[in-house]
Amino acid sequence: MGLLSLIFGKKEKKEPAPKSQEPKAPVSKPIAKEEPKKEERPVANKITVGHVHMSGCTGCLVSLADNYEGLFTILDNYADLVYCLTLADARHIPKMDVALVEGSVCLQDECSVEEIKETRERAAVVVALGGCAAYGNITRFCRGGQWNQPQHEGFVPIGDVIDVDVYIPGCAPCPQQIRNVCVMAYLLLKGNAEQQALAKAYLAPLMALASEGSKATSSEACGCDIMTKVINQGLCMGCGTCAASCPVFAITMEEGKPNIERDMCIKCGACYAACPRAFFSFDVVNQYETIIDAINGAMNPGGN
Ligand code: SF4
Ligand code: SF4
Repeated sequence: MGLLSLIFGKKEKKEPAPKSQEPKAPVSKPIAKEEPKKEERPVANKITVGHVHMSGCTGCLVSLADNYEGLFTILDNYADLVYCLTLADARHIPKMDVALVEGSVCLQDECSVEEIKETRERAAVVVALGGCAAYGNITRFCRGGQWNQPQHEGFVPIGDVIDVDVYIPGCAPCPQQIRNVCVMAYLLLKGNAEQQALAKAYLAPLMALASEGSKATSSEACGCDIMTKVINQGLCMGCGTCAASCPVFAITMEEGKPNIERDMCIKCGACYAACPRAFFSFDVVNQYETIIDAINGAMNPGGN
């Protein structure tokens, strides 16, 4: 039983067996054919996952929890949650396979700077979970003066302090995407050669975002990326996904094309990450069905 199942799982009430009034005649049992046991997981051994909370609103953790039964499946079969201030009883960052880091780093907070460096040292794969960790998002606009911490005025994405392996942009990223990355991280670390190749294909665009980071020369994680890298290249198909993913409604669809209100943009990167034309990768397109089958198989191991 996984950690969350232990915390929230209801204990089954044992109903007393109904007393039969008359003794039943013995019934000869048909000889049961022994069913072959179904494989519970595609590969053995769980990975260890931690959630590290920097400066953010906790919306990404809420999005992770919004997977409901999917989260139970992950925690029961694929991942042990070894660090998470709100969900796991651990106070020091342990060694782990995957660290999901939420929020940006406050440069005036020595503990935060130490914590993110420690995370890099102890995690095999570091994932920037959400717009704040990946690009700074709205925390980039903080100017200090908060009542309890007035000196906290400089916030940067985690990629400005440590090397990051995977970005999941969005404010917050959708539950399914977080779930899929967890499953794919599992297949990447514990799967056979075929599963590892699939996981690499799925993670490739998110790893490419991480290697670009938040450098001014690459993606700026703002609506302008949609303008320069998609619309201006003649790639926009007018699907409206960018407008639907913008948390501050900075994008509206006008005459089939996105119109971006730059002053409203909080630089979360969600629109660019969600645009189907921003990551045109033949590696992924050709394996789309196999990837979906792998995720569905992992989330529904018994085939029920
Ligand atoms: S336009 Fe909206 S979704 Fe795109 S980066 Fe700006 S705030 Fe985020
Ligand atoms: S998500 Fe991409 S393809 Fe779709 S409307 Fe926006 S820019 Fe165009």
